[in-house]
Amino acid sequence: MLTEEVYLGIGSNIGDSRTIVEQALEALDRMSSCTLRGRSSLYRSAAVSDIPQDDYINAVARLDTELEPVALLLELQAIEHAYYRNREDGRRWAPRTLDLDIILFGNRSINDSHLIIPHPEFINRRFVLEPMLEIAGDIYIPGYGSLNYLVSQAPALDMEKLARISHQGPG
Ligand code: AMP
Repeated sequence: MLTEEVYLGIGSNIGDSRTIVEQALEALDRMSSCTLRGRSSLYRSAAVSDIPQDDYINAVARLDTELEPVALLLELQAIEHAYYRNREDGRRWAPRTLDLDIILFGNRSINDSHLIIPHPEFINRRFVLEPMLEIAGDIYIPGYGSLNYLVSQAPALDMEKLARISHQGPG
């Protein structure tokens, strides 16, 4: 069975977004035919939108998967729906409970009506590129260049890496 390395973008800006993103990572880890290989820190980023809305919590995950891209997309949409994502809003860039995007799927290039890989916006999204650099290092992305180069070219964004929440008590 062919295994492909996949990078996923995760975002949330409604509800307890830190918990939602952490729970989404756990859900990714439980998906069949997939193995979670890495995850970035959580990041806070200002929403890129004309609609006033809260900041996002973002992260990037690295998975190995035996699923085909469309099958993976359907699994990700099932996880999104479990968090009551606000699709009825209908506006692009509207706030959302959980957004899962396929950024890279091995070296595949896909241009379907419902699935575009690499993700068409990833080079403009510092909230994807910086967490990706944290877990992937300076990988070379065919057709785009090195990740360090893409980070250097990405539009500026009000964002910060968040410290991990420690659950340990004093002492
Ligand atoms: P968005 O609201 O930006 O999350 O867009 C959701 C829609 O984008 C879904 O219905 C997908 O069919 C489509 N889509 C196209 N390419 C991708 C991708 N690489 N990852 C996730 N969704 C995608």
